[in-house]
Amino acid sequence: MADTFDLTGKTALITGASQGLGAGFATTLARAGAKVALAARQTGKLKTLKAEIESAGGVAHAVAMDVTDPASIHAAFDETEAALGPVDVLVNNAGIAITKPFLEISEADWDAVLDTNLKGCFLAGQEAAKRMSQRGGGSIINIASVLGSEVIGQLSSYCASKAGLIHLTKAMALELARVGVRVNAIAPGYIETPINSDFFKSPAGEKMIKGIPQRRLGQPDDLDGAILLLASDASRYMTGSVVTVDGGFLVG
Ligand code: NAD
Repeated sequence: MADTFDLTGKTALITGASQGLGAGFATTLARAGAKVALAARQTGKLKTLKAEIESAGGVAHAVAMDVTDPASIHAAFDETEAALGPVDVLVNNAGIAITKPFLEISEADWDAVLDTNLKGCFLAGQEAAKRMSQRGGGSIINIASVLGSEVIGQLSSYCASKAGLIHLTKAMALELARVGVRVNAIAPGYIETPINSDFFKSPAGEKMIKGIPQRRLGQPDDLDGAILLLASDASRYMTGSVVTVDGGFLVG
């Protein structure tokens, strides 16, 4: 049982790793023994995280990747393979949200959210799957959201992107099972990260927390169990699953 989540010898690439959940996933996977490729648009932002992982005895490589740019994705996978070996685990974590009433969303807003949250996962997922399938398999983990199944106001493009990502996860799982590539999603509820911590201290944010059955925000390490499960062989018979980690939000 102790070795169930052991990732020694595996290489994991995490998109949007410079802060928030991506930084947490990278740290957790490195602690379990994986060599981690920290991918972000600006590698300068990855210096501290890389140093922290290395000082804890891990192996990390910072790599530039914009998930909306296929050439940058291809180059990042090539660079990661050269530095750390082929990618066994891809965490499609990069994502953005634009909060606006539906009537005020511009076409550019819509495209930015869908291009990052949905098309970005398609592009990086396809790049990973092509390479993984040639080597006998791998695990792709898409970071969706509870807002892929429930909707809230002012986030329609985000909700649509995450609903699309949940369906993309299942469609990829169906086709890629025969080449040994597993594709699953994590649907986090409200997790405190630099991007939202101010909001959750506001009256509107505090009201939202009261609506969570466990009556608290999630913390990034509340996702450790899910990411270790889906990255490791412990989930070898899981594909097309959506693991919800939300303190009961969806049943509230
Ligand atoms: P965050 O804004 O702190 O992190 C997102 C990261 O993605 C940033 O580092 C950003 O630079 C990166 N990114 C954005 N566009 C990119 C691009 N084109 N290419 C590469 N990187 C890009 O947000 P977070 O809270 O850590 O969220 C991480 C993921 O988890 C997102 O997909 C988000 O939708 C999802 N999520 C978060 C929560 C939450 O409560 N925090 C809940 C559900 C789902």
